[in-house]
Amino acid sequence: MRCLLLPLLLIATSASADEPRWFKGNTHTHSLWSDGNDFPEMITAWYKDHGYDFLAMSDHNTLAEGDKWVPEATIEKKKITLGRKVVDKCSERFGPDWVTTHKNAKGEIEVKLKTLEEYRGKFEEPGKFLLVQAEEVSAGFGNAPIHINAINLTEAIQPVKDLVSIRETMRANLQAIAAQAVKTGRPIMAHVNHPNFRWALTAEDLAHVIEDKFFEVYNGHPSTYPEGVPERADTSTDRIWDIANTIRLVELKQPPLFGMGTDDSHHYHGGTATSGRGYVMVRAEKLDSNALVEAMQRGDFYASTGVTLEDVAFDPSSRQLRVKIQAVPGVKYRIEFRGTPKNYDRTVQEVPAPADDNHPIRLKHSEDVGKLLSSSEGTESTYQMTGEELYVRAVIFSDQVMINPATPGQLQKAWTQPVGWKL
Ligand SMILES: [Zn+2]
Ligand SMILES: [Zn+2]
Repeated sequence: MRCLLLPLLLIATSASADEPRWFKGNTHTHSLWSDGNDFPEMITAWYKDHGYDFLAMSDHNTLAEGDKWVPEATIEKKKITLGRKVVDKCSERFGPDWVTTHKNAKGEIEVKLKTLEEYRGKFEEPGKFLLVQAEEVSAGFGNAPIHINAINLTEAIQPVKDLVSIRETMRANLQAIAAQAVKTGRPIMAHVNHPNFRWALTAEDLAHVIEDKFFEVYNGHPSTYPEGVPERADTSTDRIWDIANTIRLVELKQPPLFGMGTDDSHHYHGGTATSGRGYVMVRAEKLDSNALVEAMQRGDFYASTGVTLEDVAFDPSSRQLRVKIQAVPGVKYRIEFRGTPKNYDRTVQEVPAPADDNHPIRLKHSEDVGKLLSSSEGTESTYQMTGEELYVRAVIFSDQVMINPATPGQLQKAWTQPVGWKL
């Protein structure tokens, strides 16, 4: 008996509730509460069924609360492809009594959307699955959309639009989100979304709005162009990230941005903005919305489109950044360490952008910004900082195509957060 008990005891100890572990989540999702085309409970079921630990439904400028009725005809019209009725799919999954309908004054059938409080109990399980309240605060300046996800908030935030400039509009919305965190005493985080959606935000915008701490390095909506396009200078989100981080550290003496991976899913019956593309892996001591947000605010997470890491660790005393991949047999990986040297080439070129750009002139920075510091094939790598780098971060490439790529052939990647920087 003794021989049996000891290993059991060890297992119990190592799985204690307070030991940090990785939680997989998506913080950017739309439902019928705004412009998504399915019921939030159907979307939540998809994420839970597909191994996610948490999900933030982030509808535009609304929380899923109060009475909201949507005509059934509108729901069916939003569906992209032909197929079974959206309402039928929902009642098949949750039973015939789950969907509430009535006839409005015009005699149309309307469906009542479930509030977060009404549907969360169907899914949440301590330590296994969590719904985090969120909103995509959707503002803009002129033609430039300024969308910011507020995660773990309690009250809806009204967007502030068209305030002086793109940057001032970003700032005002971020300040409104931060004010709610102060008022409620809750950790609430804000991530600025899809900088390349309608070519709205540049690296310089993200750098100079220092109220912003997070941005989407990967967004799965096909109109968000995370790889950028060659006719617009420095528009890949990796370049945007490195440029913004460099400006912050050198000119503004501010910490770098952290990078998020998200789905921004809207379509659940075929279509292009679907689920299962970008996500975050957060290392937290428990599956709790405050703990998850605090872990992300510490930078203890990475963004991914399919690559899983066993560990990512920066040792401040030895100044080593170590990355270990949870390797899939037969898959080839490359680990790149990137960062900007302190004595980087500061040359900046002005490059005219196409007419539909919100920035007629875009800036092209030198290749020293976000320079490739080392690259290696394999499943594990360590970078030793020399003291000459402003920061370092790792990008992990796989030779496997994403399970649900946003553009054909998009390969699985992961991005760790910048480390080793000093103010
Ligand atoms: Zn958006
Ligand atoms: Zn969105």
